[in-house]
Formats: sequence, C-alpha cells, structure tokens
Amino acid sequence: MSARQASSDEWEAGVLRLHAEAAGAYTLLLVSPAGALDLSSRAAAGDAKAFAYIGALEIFGKRLLGARRDAPMCLCCDQILSRRTPPYLIGLFHALSDRPSDCLTVGLCRSCAKGAPDLPALRNAVIGALRQVFPDLTACDGVMAPAGHA
Ligand SMILES: [Zn+2]
Repeated sequence: MSARQASSDEWEAGVLRLHAEAAGAYTLLLVSPAGALDLSSRAAAGDAKAFAYIGALEIFGKRLLGARRDAPMCLCCDQILSRRTPPYLIGLFHALSDRPSDCLTVGLCRSCAKGAPDLPALRNAVIGALRQVFPDLTACDGVMAPAGHA
C-alpha cells in the first residue's frame, strides 16, 4: 500500500466515523491565520476545545509542509495547498458535540476565499462543498474564529 493510498484510506475512515457520530448535525469553525493565533492564546489559557483545535491545525500544518503527494487540496477547487500556496482560511469541521471524537480539517485557497463577497457567502460555499462529502448535513453550527476573515 502506498503512502497516498494509506492516507486516502485513513481520510475515508475518518469521514465515515464523523458521519456516524454527527447524524447530520455538525459544527464548522473557519479560522484565519489571525484566528489561529487567538485559538493558540485560548488553548494556552486552558480552553480544552481550543487546545483540540490547535492539535488539528498542527496536523494540517505538517501536511502543508510535507511531501507534495500528501499535500491537501483546496476544499472548493483543485489548488494544492502547501508552504508556497498556503490556505487562506482553514475549516475545522466536526460533529455537533461538546466532545467530538474526530475533526476534519480543510483548507481554502486564497482565490476561492476571496471569491466570496462576505462571510455568510464564504460559509455557505464551504458548507456546500462539505455537503458533497456529507450529504446528510442538515444542521451546521458555524462560527468564525474571533479574528475572522483576514
Ligand atoms: Zn480553491
């Protein structure tokens, strides 16, 4: 099994776990680079949820810095995200729960993020793309990290 295939299988297994746990109700947190700093401060102050989000962001960040074959793609287009083409926004998506077991981390390229005229449109674009993977998505509690749209 190749590393790419293992990564794909792992991603698919995570999607299936998330789907089963959520039963249609999800939370989406959109994070800008400034929002990630705010999350980091909240994690350092003892906020357990912020700490979990920072862990998910770190794993995503390693994929951005790693081999191109393992690099994530923009959620809404075919742009490969990497150190040279970093995401403009990152979405943290998980079951609507106080203690979700899995968190799907997705990135949006600058072009897709800038194509939305405002935050509600951006959020709707992300939810629309996620709905292609999670067709059961009926409720999405969505918030921006406090620092918001960069
Ligand atoms: Zn894109």
